[in-house]
Amino acid sequence: LDVPDTPIIPIIHGDGIGKDVGPIAQDVLSAAAEATGHDIEWMEVYAGESAREMYDENLPEETVEAIREHRVAIKGPLTTPVGAGFRSLNVALRQTLDLYANVRPTYYLDGVPSPMKAPEEMDMVTFRENTEDVYAGIEWEAGTDEAEQVRSFVEDEMDFDDVMHDGDIGIGLKPISEKGSKRLVREAIDYAIENDRDTVTLVHKGNIMKFTEGQFGDWGMEVAEEEYPDDEVFAAPDSLWEEQDEVDIPEDAVMVEERLADAMLQWMQLRTDEFDVLAMPNLNGDYLSDAAGAQIGGLGIAPGANFGAGRCLAEPVHGSAPKRAGQDKANPTALILSGRLLFEYIGWDDASTLVRDAVEDTIESGTVTYDLARQRDDAEEVSSTTYAEAVIDRIEDLA
Ligand code: NAD
Repeated sequence: LDVPDTPIIPIIHGDGIGKDVGPIAQDVLSAAAEATGHDIEWMEVYAGESAREMYDENLPEETVEAIREHRVAIKGPLTTPVGAGFRSLNVALRQTLDLYANVRPTYYLDGVPSPMKAPEEMDMVTFRENTEDVYAGIEWEAGTDEAEQVRSFVEDEMDFDDVMHDGDIGIGLKPISEKGSKRLVREAIDYAIENDRDTVTLVHKGNIMKFTEGQFGDWGMEVAEEEYPDDEVFAAPDSLWEEQDEVDIPEDAVMVEERLADAMLQWMQLRTDEFDVLAMPNLNGDYLSDAAGAQIGGLGIAPGANFGAGRCLAEPVHGSAPKRAGQDKANPTALILSGRLLFEYIGWDDASTLVRDAVEDTIESGTVTYDLARQRDDAEEVSSTTYAEAVIDRIEDLA
């Protein structure tokens, strides 16, 4: 993405622990930018609790406009108050800005406790479709007229009279479209090409849900076959059912293959080094990316970003962890590493690498926040602020 010499980057510090980790993660990212000869003009914008205090609304138009205009932004977690009629602000932001791909890199950092035998083999990026599937929110509550109307339509008019049990029933829809599937897979393939990755694996449950998940796989393979030259992207034939060892893949081409979602959860752990980029419908992506993140340090570490419509909104995977808020204890690493994705999006690979190296050195040296300290005998628990200062010191040493 072309950005001005000094890009304006909107930042939402967020609710709960966002108030602790937001400002210090911003300092770390500024330090990395400065050390690599870049300059950022931060623009603080508001959503969630802070926006309610200032504007009396959850998601002010100014915030949405700032992200729309500047095209790259970073946010901490936002609390979704429990209660009827409250739409998740995160979902609202993603939908309003058409950020249809949720991207989470999952890679091992030295010094992070992991239950895996060979965690250093984990280096995957998951692309999760962000707008469709059973998460589209099209559902009807048991006992309502709407649910009964849908039931009679399905039973009587569609001839599925034998699949629904008697009595109250909740019903939801699972829309998966050609447009939604193809743009997600395209994003994943482009990422694989740009980042010298070997494979893109389409993960679905198409053997059971043929016309939704199965279509996702078919449409994804169509993108691979029809939109890229064979020597750049190779759509592996019959990869769902056959080992691909025998397949002759053009050198340097990205191989696009399919895997069933349940099997994939096993392969991810047993043959971690075989997977690079995964592209999935919404629900599979939610489960798989959380499972992958748990293998290499969990929520305090896991970065993410939402892409779509030429924009990038970086955000950690974790929420606002109200129990830890205001204690200067939470791990700012997830937010700091989310900033790497933003740097990469604007072509600042040098700043991105520096952030990773500095974070990894700091954790390896045993200066860590509570979540990692409690899993390591050789580490010292420090506050969020002390940890961030240690990362900045390391950035300055390495630069
Ligand atoms: P959570 O991620 O806030 O917390 C889950 C657990 O992980 C807690 O034990 C917490 O202490 C720990 N944890 C999370 N982040 C951590 C960090 N940086 N360092 C150390 N420990 C950390 O999930 P939750 O409790 O289910 O949700 C709390 C609130 O956050 C809810 O209102 C939810 O809607 C919201 N949420 C927001 C986002 C987002 O903004 N993208 C994502 C998930 C949840």
